[in-house]
Amino acid sequence: MLLRPTLHRGLPNANGNAPSQQSRAGVLNCELGMSKPFDIELERLTGQASYSEAFPGVDAGQRGTFFLETFGCQMNDHDSEKVASLLLSRGYRQAETPEAASLILYNTCSIREKAAQKVFSRLGEYRERQTEGKVIGVLGCVAQQEGEDIFKRAPWVSLVCGSASYSKLPEMLAQLEAGNQRVTGLDTDTDETFETEVTRRDNPWRAYLTIIEGCDKACSYCVVPFTRGPERSRASDSILREVRQLAELGYSEVQLLGQTVNSYADPTARKTRFSELLLAVADVEGIRRVRFTTSHPSDFTPDIVEAIGRELKICDHVHLPVQSGSTRVLRAMQRTYSREEYLEKIAMIRSAKRPIAITTDIIVGFPGERESEFEETLSLLDEVQYDSMFSFKYSPRPNTPSLSMSDSISEEEKGRRLAILQDKQREIQAAKNAKLVGERFEVLVSGKSRRENQWTGYTTAHRMINFASQESELLGTYVQVRVTGATPNSLVGEHVT
Ligand code: SAM
Ligand code: SF4
Repeated sequence: MLLRPTLHRGLPNANGNAPSQQSRAGVLNCELGMSKPFDIELERLTGQASYSEAFPGVDAGQRGTFFLETFGCQMNDHDSEKVASLLLSRGYRQAETPEAASLILYNTCSIREKAAQKVFSRLGEYRERQTEGKVIGVLGCVAQQEGEDIFKRAPWVSLVCGSASYSKLPEMLAQLEAGNQRVTGLDTDTDETFETEVTRRDNPWRAYLTIIEGCDKACSYCVVPFTRGPERSRASDSILREVRQLAELGYSEVQLLGQTVNSYADPTARKTRFSELLLAVADVEGIRRVRFTTSHPSDFTPDIVEAIGRELKICDHVHLPVQSGSTRVLRAMQRTYSREEYLEKIAMIRSAKRPIAITTDIIVGFPGERESEFEETLSLLDEVQYDSMFSFKYSPRPNTPSLSMSDSISEEEKGRRLAILQDKQREIQAAKNAKLVGERFEVLVSGKSRRENQWTGYTTAHRMINFASQESELLGTYVQVRVTGATPNSLVGEHVT
């Protein structure tokens, strides 16, 4: 069963982090795979629904109240939606502030050092709250990475649970409710996926759905295989059942999630391929847009391109992280493809029946990255002409193979390379977006500016567009917008009928 949230103005999003940040260059340098508007204020998309209908017999608040704060990627956001749903189904009520909660949960990200550092400073802030009788829990990647050491560094924490153990959360909650002061869920040796009977979603229009958890790749810089455990795919019939329920609730856009979403391997006898799953989701009555992220280049096969070419409901956008333009660096990163093989995938996508926007992730300053190798990354940008890019300075992470390589490039040099990379990408985006002026796009309206008659939304290719309309209520609707101007990161337009 699923719940559709209502729009609620002013409620601090549990994900109040809005981790996307505009860099100096105006190119996204962020921790999320989703861009956010930078020149208009969005309505908060956080929802508070009436839960009584979904949880008959559950007395809201009988077990207490919880506050859940989330950092990191869309997968963390969606994990938090499911954790919140589990708590609601047990009779907890969601509080808007930590002060108003008896249980404070912090869903963490450790992909880069900065993100992980934030956790302990935030836990320091939570320290005093424990003396007020509150229970404090750490969930997600930092929980998995630091394990029971969290109890040593922050003895006021009572729950430490990695994402691979979320399916055991009901038992852990029962232990906490029984007064247990030290509860852990740190097992990553699992073949289970985290499914909830009821999912309360924060975004009223785009529903996230994790179809594959964990990761079996072994990129030498990445903590994900350690923090999220091995790859586990969700059964195709269970995914389609949930999509049908979402459509019945009025959702028209779904985004399938996975660290390597296209490595999906249906565990049922049906053995549905990823491309077949995309088509089946698109076929559900009421669904107008199907997105998916993140795709791994090695598993990106021609049938996925054919499916996008054939079915207009599958969005014309592929996020295909390259990480580096140098084959030597890619080998050191254990990325399983060369520059040439990656470019063959790009050529395959470009040969689709319709144009497909391509975005990427890049790491600069990987141990031993020579200036000439960094320049290969710059030339790759010229060659591919990405529609958008997320870029990061290499950050050494615990347990990863690259930790033992000498992190030879200074922070200053990493910063210099990042700035050059972003300047180049900004120029590419400015030129690409300028060419779109005069074109018309269908936009799903997802935000309203405080400025009168100004709205924001996304095209199928995930281009953000800020536009003017005299209409008074457009949120959640699909409208036609003509592009009248462009910046490197977004388009400007006007509503046309
Ligand atoms: N699974 C996705 C893939 O294969 O590309 C990426 C998931 S990761 C959450 C998102 C991005 O973070 C990566 O694509 C990479 O660019 C970046 N990243 C991961 N580990 C990093 C590290 N140690 N330092 C800097 N950036 C990192
Ligand atoms: Fe990390 Fe590589 Fe897996 Fe992506 S594919 S989550 S970068 S190990």
